[in-house]
Amino acid sequence: MKIVIFGPPGSGKGTYASRLFDLIKTPHISTGDLVRQEIKDRTETGKKIEAYTRRGVLVPDDVVIELLKKRISQPDCASGFILDGFPRTIPQAEALGKISPIEIVINLDVPDEVIIERLSSRLTCKSCGEIYNRRFLKPKVEGICDKCGGQLYTREDDKPEVIRERLKTYQRQTQPLLDYYKERKLVENVRNTEVAVPPEIIVSKIMKIINARR
Ligand code: ADP
Ligand code: ZN
Repeated sequence: MKIVIFGPPGSGKGTYASRLFDLIKTPHISTGDLVRQEIKDRTETGKKIEAYTRRGVLVPDDVVIELLKKRISQPDCASGFILDGFPRTIPQAEALGKISPIEIVINLDVPDEVIIERLSSRLTCKSCGEIYNRRFLKPKVEGICDKCGGQLYTREDDKPEVIRERLKTYQRQTQPLLDYYKERKLVENVRNTEVAVPPEIIVSKIMKIINARR
């Protein structure tokens, strides 16, 4: 199945997508992770896009579309994928529609104050990208990823000034996409108004929606 997990930064896209991968064995593709990998590897693309990410604004469409195309042409994506952080603009959605039309959009509907609270204490694994939270979703051992033993760190763009900018970017450029997908009858809403809900509860809601459509 081809699934998009949609929602503002900090709504839990990555947290739920990685757990869905464990349940339905469909690869989880985070364009944020793809972007950070390019930057870490100091590739030509990485050098070009670093400044955007640091400011909390979107990387140009053509660059991110190229990264996504490359990733979904891998054999493990043949029968589907879970997209997290893509598409984020109408041109990206149109490009995706041409390459590989998606079947369902899970919209994570989370209020701003919850998002800010979560992002300001978020931790990310340096090696595998798994997401934790210093207060609400702690790793078993402080500073260490449960999954791969990698080191946890605070992302450069999880600082208050950049968080605010990312939320603005979301409202301006990404939220309008919801109408695009609503018109196509692909959107399923999952509302979550609390900061510290165990991910399993939301994941089981998402699983019900997916199973009903399969
Ligand atoms: P979050 O959803 O928590 O803001 P991501 O890890 O998805 O964070 O993305 C981090 C940054 O990577 C974004 O702020 C943006 O600069 C870049 N990025 C990720 N996905 C896209 C995309 N689809 N289009 C443009 N830029 C993107
Ligand atoms: Zn890890």
